[in-house]
Amino acid sequence: MGKYARLRQRLAEGLPHLSFAVAPAATDGQLALAHTPNYIQAVVSGSLPAAAQREIGFPWSPQMVERSRRSTGATIAAARVALGLTERGLAQGEGVAGNLAGGTHHAGRDKGGGFCVFNDVAVAARLMQAEWARLHRHRPPLRVAIIDLDVHQGNGTAEIFAGDDTVFTLSLHGQKNFPFRKVAGDLDVDLPDGCDDGPYLEALEQALAELESRFDPGLIFFLAGADPHEGDRLGRLRLSFDGLQARDRRVFDWAWQRRAALAFVMAGGYGHDLESTVQVQLNTW
Ligand SMILES: [Zn+2]
Repeated sequence: MGKYARLRQRLAEGLPHLSFAVAPAATDGQLALAHTPNYIQAVVSGSLPAAAQREIGFPWSPQMVERSRRSTGATIAAARVALGLTERGLAQGEGVAGNLAGGTHHAGRDKGGGFCVFNDVAVAARLMQAEWARLHRHRPPLRVAIIDLDVHQGNGTAEIFAGDDTVFTLSLHGQKNFPFRKVAGDLDVDLPDGCDDGPYLEALEQALAELESRFDPGLIFFLAGADPHEGDRLGRLRLSFDGLQARDRRVFDWAWQRRAALAFVMAGGYGHDLESTVQVQLNTW
């Protein structure tokens, strides 16, 4: 957990022109766009079965609930700012905004897992689509692409959006890594252990070309996981700082070329040295 506060501190010191906002807490109604009422109720009241709580990976507390709500609320806020959707209607979007946490992509409709309670990106995607539809009654739905470059597969996100052709889920991940039972998304790229900068960036290029040929997004969520870094304890890949920066630049450029709004979230990062994880994330910002 220490990486979150450290990132906030280093960003404030190093990028003073960023504007920070306190993350609002996602409501039960917002969470219900991606999760079942039973699951939300069980999380909120602390009545998840012990096995389900173990699968999430940390113990229940009121703070855990509040943090999960706010991490989701921050992704909603980032998407709003990027897209220019306010509570009252449309404004000029910033084009890009990020969450200092978020990217909890192992959470599915009715369960959590792998340190993920609520699926922030899924909730934010559905909420932006709903608000967009209210403001643009006679236009096609807002199409959302989720580019998940965390080293672990986005199984929860793939499950939530299965059969939904208004949301495209792309995941590049380590083949032999958690989750061991992967859920097929719209485009999944399995990478071998030890994959380094060259093959990774090549695979990303091919994946973006395929995404582009199949889908035209108005909003993009980017899970900029720090865990493909070579210094990560869980990642099993070998990307350098430069390789990860090239990855990020490619995704930001791709969104910019399409004039699509982009909301980015931090997702995983478990460096042997906490400072190296924070450095990868700082470079993303
Ligand atoms: Zn991860």
